[in-house]
Amino acid sequence: YNNEIQRSEKMEMISGLAASVAHEVRNPLQVTRGFLQLLSNRTDDKERDYLLLAVAELDRASHIITDFLTFAKPQLEDIKVLHLSEEIKHIVGVLKPLANLQGGEIIVDIPNNLYILGNSSKFKQALINMIKNSIEALDGPGQVHVWAYMSVDRVFIHIKDNGEGMEPEVLSRLGQPYFSNKTKGTGLGLMVTFRIIEVMEGNIKFKSKKGEGTEAIISFPLVYGNKN
Ligand code: ADP
Ligand code: MG
Repeated sequence: YNNEIQRSEKMEMISGLAASVAHEVRNPLQVTRGFLQLLSNRTDDKERDYLLLAVAELDRASHIITDFLTFAKPQLEDIKVLHLSEEIKHIVGVLKPLANLQGGEIIVDIPNNLYILGNSSKFKQALINMIKNSIEALDGPGQVHVWAYMSVDRVFIHIKDNGEGMEPEVLSRLGQPYFSNKTKGTGLGLMVTFRIIEVMEGNIKFKSKKGEGTEAIISFPLVYGNKN
């Protein structure tokens, strides 16, 4: 029993530390990327190839940070009542530019009276990884719909896209570490998402059809909206 407590304190320390390292590392990665790109514009073809390879590797490092630690804050885990529409407004604000850049849109319909229990940063990370997958699946114009409602004692969140969809083989491997079908994928996004949803006592399932799109349905225990 005692060991358990020590272990979870250690885990919190490590995840807090990982978050601050990610924050600190992100800036130098970006700065280095900028200089390499600058150099690649001023040099001959052979050297340019090396420089662009270096840029691609830096991008890979930042994608890993993004999938794990977009919203991680260097502080101890705090669990509180989350106002769903507020959380999702923030997430969509971050992702809208990414969707718009390729002519896609995110359409949101979340009622104002839904509350769940969890850590705000982690919850945002879980959803951002999913909505990002939907935007990537559009690969151009298309829609991602996000809506929510309560039913009996749970809150349901749907994320639906009309992107490329998945074959059953892909569907059955979601969440396996390093499973990715993208050239620049990490294969870590859904693993992180599933873990966070599990800790929040949530459920998640996917429906998908190749060539038509994907719908994820997440549910969490409902809590009553008395702030904190
Ligand atoms: P990554 O995005 O880095 O590839 P993820 O764990 O986020 O890793 O996703 C794993 C794989 O699941 C993706 O490469 C993709 O093939 C598939 N996938 C996930 N979400 C969707 C979606 N909404 N539409 C189509 N395929 C998806
Ligand atoms: Mg992903």
